Amino acid sequence: MRFDQRHLLGIEPLRPDEITTLLDLSEKYVTLNRQRDKRAGTLSGLTQINMFFENSTRTQASFELAGKRMGADVMNMSMQASSIKKGETLIDTAMTLNAMHPDLLVVRHPHSGAVDLLAQKVNCAVINAGDGRHEHPTQALLDALTIRRAKGRLHRLSIAICGDIAHSRVARSNIMLLGKMENRIRLVGPATLMPAGIAEFGCEVFEDMNEGLKDVDVVMMLRLQKERMDGGFIPSEREYFHRYGLDAQKLSRAKADAIVMHPGPMNRGVEIDGTLADDINRSVIQEQVEMGVAVRMAVMDLLARNLRARPKEVLV
Ligand code: ASP
Repeated sequence: MRFDQRHLLGIEPLRPDEITTLLDLSEKYVTLNRQRDKRAGTLSGLTQINMFFENSTRTQASFELAGKRMGADVMNMSMQASSIKKGETLIDTAMTLNAMHPDLLVVRHPHSGAVDLLAQKVNCAVINAGDGRHEHPTQALLDALTIRRAKGRLHRLSIAICGDIAHSRVARSNIMLLGKMENRIRLVGPATLMPAGIAEFGCEVFEDMNEGLKDVDVVMMLRLQKERMDGGFIPSEREYFHRYGLDAQKLSRAKADAIVMHPGPMNRGVEIDGTLADDINRSVIQEQVEMGVAVRMAVMDLLARNLRARPKEVLV
């Protein structure tokens, strides 16, 4: 079992065997999380600080739960109410927290690259919980675990990632992870929601959803990231649903056992039909949330092992 990373800043630096190590360890935490007593002492004595500069429901809650179940001292910084509002820079805030000797720093930030920058300034392990439209590595890992459990493998699958690819860090991290594991990836959506330089992604691109979903094993829907849009990317939500909203009719183009995924939060009736999202025979959206806690436990476990293996850098 090898995992050589000091931080988890993205999927990009991970090797396929490190991804497998992470997913295998996550399975152990899935089992633990289904027991009455869910405690593990893995992070005992360590301090975990969650710094969310952007709103979050699932991600923040699951990092908090993961840390607590593993025995860490977990602190949630309310960044909305912090000194950032008084003009403190990200780096000053990081240095201040660093002086409190955290071991794990979980950071979400609206700017791409902000988490990498912060990781250079602190001496604990940093986990990217989403930075701008850049990466959201734990989301891609929990998606991979969900797919592997539903399909029995994580290679040679045909996977359609649909909707607002341009603004989505979930899409970027998934494209990288699923590509490293040798799957066929299709990107489906209007040209206005495809990122520049799409050819470099090495994926097939479809504007017509009925074509894009044909015979796929997995349909991954994305939220329309309205907060990152500054113009008219779609004609109207009604029109968008008509062309790109996933419903039973469009899903019938995929394989009969294809699964439906969504990272949440969902816009029901915009990118996905509400009844389909709740259909437990097709939708694995709740499993994704469950896998999220286990994957975050595995990530923090592996980073903590690497942290403990390093000589302590003493601050002066
Ligand atoms: N929750 C995911 C994220 O933070 C997906 C989304 O917001 O649409 O990127």
